[in-house]
Amino acid sequence: MNSSYDIIIVGAGIVGAACAMECAKGGLRTLVLDRGPIGGGTTAAGMGHLVVMDDSEAQFALTSYSRRLWHELRAQLPREVEFDCCGTLWVAVDQEEMAEVWRKQKFYEQRGVRVEVLDEAGVAKAEPNLRPGLAGGLRVLDDAVVYPPCAAQALLELAKKDGAEVRTRMAVKTLLPEGGVELADGTKIFADRSVSATGPWSPELTPGLAVRKRKGHLVITDRDPGFVHHQIVELGYLKSAHSTGTDSVAFNIQPRITGQMLIGSSRQFDAESSAVDHGILNRMLRRALEYLPGLARLSAIRVWTGHRAATPDKLPMIGSSMVSDRIWLATGHEGLGITTSLGTGRLLADLLLDRPTEIDAAPFAPARFAKEVVAHE
Ligand SMILES: Cc1cc2nc3c(=O)[nH]c(=O)nc-3n(C[C@H](O)[C@H](O)[C@H](O)COP(=O)(O)OP(=O)(O)OC[C@H]3O[C@@H](n4cnc5c(N)ncnc54)[C@H](O)[C@@H]3O)c2cc1C
Repeated sequence: MNSSYDIIIVGAGIVGAACAMECAKGGLRTLVLDRGPIGGGTTAAGMGHLVVMDDSEAQFALTSYSRRLWHELRAQLPREVEFDCCGTLWVAVDQEEMAEVWRKQKFYEQRGVRVEVLDEAGVAKAEPNLRPGLAGGLRVLDDAVVYPPCAAQALLELAKKDGAEVRTRMAVKTLLPEGGVELADGTKIFADRSVSATGPWSPELTPGLAVRKRKGHLVITDRDPGFVHHQIVELGYLKSAHSTGTDSVAFNIQPRITGQMLIGSSRQFDAESSAVDHGILNRMLRRALEYLPGLARLSAIRVWTGHRAATPDKLPMIGSSMVSDRIWLATGHEGLGITTSLGTGRLLADLLLDRPTEIDAAPFAPARFAKEVVAHE
């Protein structure tokens, strides 16, 4: 088929933007389509913490690879992206959580990630507004934060420099098995391949996909520069992120370059509505106050929600779909898609262009969920 594009990427969130940047850089004629604005989906709702995680070797590989790519790209990012290498401070309340600090330290150091273990006094010195009496913590030095919607915009600007086209307010109805897409108005645009980077909405275009919406709340405060210096996360966050059943909250706070504090976070399955759930919001804020009592003197100026795209094994899907080798997927990034966008884009382009990949792509192959797709057909 003679088509004007090698690849059509559906979704101009951070993941679609990273895929577009890498595809265009690799010489593919690239078109990006989104039914909304750039970065207006989950990307606008996310916290923007660029964090190395260690739930599995595959998750570690993708997060650490992606974080390295963010550092490499940093010099090309405009000021609006607000890249801030503030580091992460994982805080432990007791000796049980300190055991987790030591385990993480060993895991990260063996793999070349720069970390420091802090005792009670070290944590108090690093973050004087934390309540006294915490057992200690782990500082991950090269973790950072960005402002996600502007980051998506910046990646697309880089893609455009390499020839990519970006069209917003264009809803895609179908991904064509023969290559390309059909728009909501019936227009067809052909391409060798399409990529669905549609986050929590990806099952709409690929029915039966093993992606569930997982709602989260965030709160932003008024300005108090220096109130916290790191992205601070309780070690109990891991329990919250891992739980698959009940609603959960965990203390997670981010200093913004504006001097504001972004407070998270909650996780809820089966909560489709984007309305604020005041019950879980109160739980989330009470949890934050347990760690940072001084927050009580700040005002919350805005609260919002977003839906993460969760897969059963907590890893994204990157590669050819089960439906057709002309339909590819870059979705299912749950609470790590800002971090892992760059690794996703590079992996996807390497696979499309038949180049060697720097990390093993097998754990992210959509084929691992083949049974789920078949079950829904
Ligand atoms: C509360 C919260 C906090 C988070 N914090 C962090 C964090 O600190 N660090 C981190 O790494 N990650 C974080 N995340 C996760 C991160 O925000 C997501 O993983 C990431 O934004 C996913 O990006 P995406 O491009 O896949 O999806 P999206 O940003 O949702 O983009 C999908 C796009 O597809 C478009 N689309 C959908 N269907 C169609 C269609 N049919 N036609 C055309 N366009 C379509 C949508 O309009 C949308 O723009 C957080 C998420 C939440 C909810």
